[in-house]
Amino acid sequence: MAQARLTIDLGAICANWRALLALGRAETGAVVKADAYGLGAEQVATALAREGATRFFVALAEEGAALRRALGPGPDIFVMSGHMDGDTTLVRDAGLTPMINSIDQMLRHVEALPGHGFGIQLDSGMNRLGMEPAEWSALRDIALAQRPALVMSHLACADTPDHAMNARQLAVFREMTDGIEAPRSLAATGGILLGPGYHFDITRPGIGLYGGLPFIDARPVVSLSLPVIQVRDVAPGESVGYDNSWIAQAPTRVATVSGGYADGILRAIGPKGWLWAGETRCKVLGRVSMDLIGVDVTAVRTDPEALELLGRHQSVDTVAGWAGTIGYEILTALGPRYARRYLAP
Ligand SMILES: *Cc1c(COP(=O)(O)O)cnc(C)c1O
Repeated sequence: MAQARLTIDLGAICANWRALLALGRAETGAVVKADAYGLGAEQVATALAREGATRFFVALAEEGAALRRALGPGPDIFVMSGHMDGDTTLVRDAGLTPMINSIDQMLRHVEALPGHGFGIQLDSGMNRLGMEPAEWSALRDIALAQRPALVMSHLACADTPDHAMNARQLAVFREMTDGIEAPRSLAATGGILLGPGYHFDITRPGIGLYGGLPFIDARPVVSLSLPVIQVRDVAPGESVGYDNSWIAQAPTRVATVSGGYADGILRAIGPKGWLWAGETRCKVLGRVSMDLIGVDVTAVRTDPEALELLGRHQSVDTVAGWAGTIGYEILTALGPRYARRYLAP
């Protein structure tokens, strides 16, 4: 079988959730947008709900509806894009809580679904989603009279703890919300790590659950094993892969593994990437193809059956570093072609 195997440790996700919960007194939600960062929203949210999570966050109403089918009634599902044209049926039938981002969305929501729960998203400086202070002043009394389920904002620079933007956004959020009765939320993973002053009532970790930075103490969650399809000896002067981009200087044993950029293994990792055969580190040779990668296994005593890209030896952030990107992008790029195995909590 040439299908690569992606193993997702649900026990590690639950342990990471508990560890983030233990960092303060706030309730800890779980962000499972983009299919739980590519790892499977149904499996991840079901495991976290058993662990005690009762509040889930998605980006789109469609994601929320699918999550509701997996979780059943009970948990809160917040839709961070709010209430868009066309969302009404999903929001109503799946019992979703849209995070209202603008006066337009507020009008749409109360007209289409009077009495249906909602939350408010405020912009405290990121200029991405949510009501700005002036808009909020105009709407605040009317919105609060309808008892929003949550009032939240998002930090732009929480991954950089000493960035002045953090304190600035905290002050703006406090100014916009101090004294209200509704529960408040400001912190994603990075914000949780800034300390309890940023936690308010409910936190919204995503990447930390999935083993990524900035949560350095996270337990690793994913491992990715790529089967070796063929092994050959390459003589000095011969090349490997497209565009002859790697040329052997010495006799080299080359394994071709199954997996490539169609599986989210970014082409950009090529020249810097490594895989592992047990305890032996093996260099990527030449370009990452759509379905295949050449790897130097000269140092491996017996030809390996598979090589590991993610796991004990290197994290999504290690791989992200080679490609000049972030762990989030590596995770969400993991394709649909893997055989996925879930380790039960
Ligand atoms: C994605 C997202 C989160 C989760 O962020 P992480 O950095 O993955 O913890 C929380 N809140 C909002 C608004 C988001 O867009």
